[in-house]
Amino acid sequence: MKRLSTDILILGSGGAGLFAALHAKKVAPGLSVTVAVKGLLGKCGCTRMVQGGYNVALAPGDSAERHFMDTVEGGKFLNEQDLAWTLVTVAQLRIRELESELGCFFDRNPDGTIHQKAFAGQTFDRTVHKGDLTGIEIINRLAEQVWAHDIARLEEHRAVALIRARGGDALAGVLMIDMRSGEFVFVQARAVLLATGGGPTMYKYHTPSGDKSCDGMAMALQAGLDLRDMEMVQFHPTGLLAGCETRMTGTVLEEGLRGAGGYLLGGDGRRFMHNYDPRLERATRDIVSRAMIAEIRRGNTTPNGGLWIDMRHLGAADVRRLFKGMVERCADCGFDLAGGLVEVIPTAHYMMGGVVFAQDCTTALPGLFAAGEDTGGVHGGNRLGGNGVANSTVFGGIAGDSMAAWIPEHGRFREPDGSAIAAAIAACRIPLDHPQGDIGALRERLYELMWEDVGIFRDASGLRRAEGALVALDEELDHTGIAGDTLAFNLTWQDWLNLKSLVLVSRAITSAALAREESRGAHFRSDFPATTPDENLAFTKVWLADGVIVCDHEPVRFTRIRPGESLLGNAAA
Ligand SMILES: Cc1cc2nc3c(=O)[nH]c(=O)nc-3n(C[C@H](O)[C@H](O)[C@H](O)COP(=O)(O)OP(=O)(O)OC[C@H]3O[C@@H](n4cnc5c(N)ncnc54)[C@H](O)[C@@H]3O)c2cc1C
Repeated sequence: MKRLSTDILILGSGGAGLFAALHAKKVAPGLSVTVAVKGLLGKCGCTRMVQGGYNVALAPGDSAERHFMDTVEGGKFLNEQDLAWTLVTVAQLRIRELESELGCFFDRNPDGTIHQKAFAGQTFDRTVHKGDLTGIEIINRLAEQVWAHDIARLEEHRAVALIRARGGDALAGVLMIDMRSGEFVFVQARAVLLATGGGPTMYKYHTPSGDKSCDGMAMALQAGLDLRDMEMVQFHPTGLLAGCETRMTGTVLEEGLRGAGGYLLGGDGRRFMHNYDPRLERATRDIVSRAMIAEIRRGNTTPNGGLWIDMRHLGAADVRRLFKGMVERCADCGFDLAGGLVEVIPTAHYMMGGVVFAQDCTTALPGLFAAGEDTGGVHGGNRLGGNGVANSTVFGGIAGDSMAAWIPEHGRFREPDGSAIAAAIAACRIPLDHPQGDIGALRERLYELMWEDVGIFRDASGLRRAEGALVALDEELDHTGIAGDTLAFNLTWQDWLNLKSLVLVSRAITSAALAREESRGAHFRSDFPATTPDENLAFTKVWLADGVIVCDHEPVRFTRIRPGESLLGNAAA
């Protein structure tokens, strides 16, 4: 096993990871900073895939208070309110930083102000964007700055275990696999940021990038940390349905299409949202996704079992101009978004849940910080479109500042627990001792069972069935070998490791979903369709004890407002 050391180790190179690296370097230029990432820096993760844009209250008439209210009302009051407040206030600084320091060009109004578009579930048009491919602008500028600074990179390095120090009281570093050689690498660090970006890729239809397999959450569970709100998986209503032979199926057609006035049609060519919500297609993602599945279950479907999105009434030229990226994406799959109909289906998009963390991005494990989609609490029961990239850039920056400030007093290089490293290596090598099996088939089974039993509609019997099936799948995985005679660039090995993370985190989702016996936000129980009164609202917390997922509840702290109250005066509301 190779050994490396760095003052700050950042896992992941999305908005959270790269912002953290730049901020840490700015606060403490003398500290060594290393970004370790499963893919290539700047080319992987979901921040690059951000389409619609970035929520921030900038325009006259909008305010941080209004953005906060939309965020906690969208989150059905499950949010950790101080985190939500940090999100909406620091986003106002971050967007200036993105423009003025990093050089992002966002779309502008004729008077030179930043253009902000409508997104569903918001009371103000506050989504900053660069056309409909905003993430490429953000991640390219971030990556350029990281390349320009003295920041080390470990690309195609996969983190597999958070390793505690001898004595267990703090983190010593991270065990990684150099995917190019197959070699294990232990990276000792004084502070580590978990920013691997969650990503519900355990569902049959999903949007996140292929490199994401909930590794950060799985490592956090294995390291004894709590995850919260894991039942809250967001399904985006408009995943592209382009046939099972293409990975384009499941990829998202951005929220702005519905924001701009796009219609959803059943297989019969008629709109149906009026049967479900007065806001029609501009209702929040959870409501639209449920309505769509209900319509699909009624049998009112397109030839491939989905529904249509229809933009024709908005004018083909305008649709082409406003949604160039989406029009091209659809054309690649044989659909004409501007002048025709496109088949869509809800698709698993985002996990509101994640590692319990504080406003300064510290976690319960000294030395471990967390930011971005790996964390829980900011969005509560549902995330507003546009709050995801705000979350990762806001808290990524904070994490960089915090780590740099924390190290001088608390951050020591600690000797790792050797037995923990040995156990983690042995766990990764399990498939080497077994005859080659069909990993693809196991993955398909995971997709199906999560889609059917832990998907948009849930009930106790389905969730219990899923619990058993996931344990069985995990055991089967432990007896399944991989292809190839070398570990260098062994993609079946990586796939096996992906599945191990996904199955563990799927168990956490299932357990939390069973524990929440009500419907709230993104979580809908057919056997408990009502939302319970907000007074005694609690969030779910799961952790791993001797290989078993344990779930408990903890009361939500209403630190700024109670349900029913508002930060807005009557006039502003
Ligand atoms: C198609 C799509 C469109 C979206 N559109 C919007 C939008 O319009 N507005 C919005 O606010 N949000 C949007 N989101 C959500 C947004 O992308 C995320 O909220 C945010 O970018 C997450 O940032 P992150 O830094 O936490 O993770 P990511 O950007 O996903 O980065 C995670 C990084 O971790 C790396 N990694 C993963 N596992 C490991 C491992 N084991 N070891 C080392 N590295 C690892 C990955 O390779 C990647 O570099 C969209 C998401 C998708 C998928």
